[in-house]
Amino acid sequence: MRDKYCGLVCKDDIGKTLKLSGWVYRRRDHGGLIFVDLRDVTGIVQIAFSPDISKEAHERAGDIKQEYVLSVSGKVEKRPEGTENFEIPTGEVEVLVDAFDILNISKPLPFQLDEEETNESLRLKYRYLDMRRPEVQHVFKERSSAYKAVRDYFLKNGFYEFETPLFTKSTPEGARDFVVPSRLNPGMFYALPQSPQLFKQILMIAGFDRYFQIARCFRDEDLRADRQPEFTQIDVEMSFVGIDDVITISEGMMGAVYQTLKGEQIDLPFTRITYDEAMDKYGTDKPDLRFDLSMVELTDIFNKTKFEIFRKTLEEKGAIKGMVLRGKSLSRKDLDTAIDVTKEMGAGGLIWIRMEQGVLQSPIAKYLKDNEKEMVSARLNVVEGDIVFILADVRDKVNEIMGKFRLYLAERFDLIRKEIFKFLWVVDFPLLEYSEEEKRYVARHHPFTSPKESVKNFKGDYLTIKAKAYDLVLNGVEIGGGSIRMHRMDEQMEMFKLLKISEEEASEKFGFLLEALELGAPPHGGIAFGFDRILMMLLGLKSIREVIPFPKTQKGTCLLTGAPSKIAHKQLNELKIKTTN
Ligand code: ASP
Repeated sequence: MRDKYCGLVCKDDIGKTLKLSGWVYRRRDHGGLIFVDLRDVTGIVQIAFSPDISKEAHERAGDIKQEYVLSVSGKVEKRPEGTENFEIPTGEVEVLVDAFDILNISKPLPFQLDEEETNESLRLKYRYLDMRRPEVQHVFKERSSAYKAVRDYFLKNGFYEFETPLFTKSTPEGARDFVVPSRLNPGMFYALPQSPQLFKQILMIAGFDRYFQIARCFRDEDLRADRQPEFTQIDVEMSFVGIDDVITISEGMMGAVYQTLKGEQIDLPFTRITYDEAMDKYGTDKPDLRFDLSMVELTDIFNKTKFEIFRKTLEEKGAIKGMVLRGKSLSRKDLDTAIDVTKEMGAGGLIWIRMEQGVLQSPIAKYLKDNEKEMVSARLNVVEGDIVFILADVRDKVNEIMGKFRLYLAERFDLIRKEIFKFLWVVDFPLLEYSEEEKRYVARHHPFTSPKESVKNFKGDYLTIKAKAYDLVLNGVEIGGGSIRMHRMDEQMEMFKLLKISEEEASEKFGFLLEALELGAPPHGGIAFGFDRILMMLLGLKSIREVIPFPKTQKGTCLLTGAPSKIAHKQLNELKIKTTN
């Protein structure tokens, strides 16, 4: 139905008669001439209806409305001088229509395609209209290119692509499962996978050595801006590897995706810091390094302090930490706001010290000894105009609040270099955390992650055991995470013991994996990346919904199809399910 795509018509076509098909994007009537921007997936070309070319076509063109689907034939001409549009690739030519067909009509649209529509519900209900906009099409073309970059990269590097089941058993990511009832096994349910974790480990045991999958995953969690109940993960597993191997392969993949979407190379390798260092300096395990603010330990400086608040902190074995904001002049009101902000974050109080005309000024100045002031000043390299913020409390709380306050300062005082991409590996995560609710240790990553040292005869604080686990962070957002796994049954059983997962429970839930571990499992490890998040960030978009073709709302509904919905009694009966509401 066409000789060429609309967006590809160019100067070389001048003089040719072409057949084009597409949608009416805009229509303008100018002194007897009717102009239409005809749009298809490649872009827009201007077509003109003139009574001098075809009286009949020009007359019928009067009926054409927005989003009508047309097939036109006409001669490509150079646009008259002064009427070119150098902003678009086809802007120097136009097509003078001699004949056309209306292939379909359109009712008036619920929103304009060439204006921003702020009602997201409307956009999602008519996602196919929203998707006709060039800027939305751009996103999904980029998404398609990113799939290709990922596939090409892994296939080139000896990986095999697999699909793993969607109807499966509960996987160990620790979120709530979505479940599917089994008609053939009444009362039994499949779980939709939170990740292909167990299958990818099984594939290593099956000898495939390197696996990847662009996998759909499902987690029934409360939704936030960067979360969806179903999302896409780039899932990877490798055999006979250590942490560095997985990291190197991952960096190569990120490099390929970055090159594809941004058209330039990223600097490799990425910076690596340990979890402890991240918490210590930035108060978070996903620090944003696009700006230069970090916490500094001051506790030791105040070990002989007379200042009541610090003294109490020291008695309670807490921490005193400071952060310097440089080169910004803050009013008294700014400082008061900063105090309020930290209070809202849970701080008892925030102390500020300012270097003014060579002297440290602060509401607490009179309580500080000269040598304390000197040491603070020297440790933080305080110069004229700098402001030091100090928090004193339980260490974890200081880290947490200072971490959030750091982000507040960055936003408030415009410290973030928004145009750059700062990738960062965080390694040596703690293996365990303690669940007050369940009164037991739980795996921080998942229970198949290998510890850095054997847990078997471990003496001491279990919370200090580190895991062979790593996260990839981009601009303060976690975009990937993985670990080296335990590949021996005895290690795995030790871990379950520590996690208070009984033998029955372990064999009920992961029996197939445990059995496989005893049948020649190679050492292996892997990682998974949030594909949607990566796209969102590299394309500079605010919500993950912008990069998912048919996303769900915050309440987990699809506005296009109306899912979830009730099902017929007959279906429920077949499944032997009774609902209570
Ligand atoms: N399955 C893990 C996740 O989805 C990633 C991994 O350990 O490879 O977070």
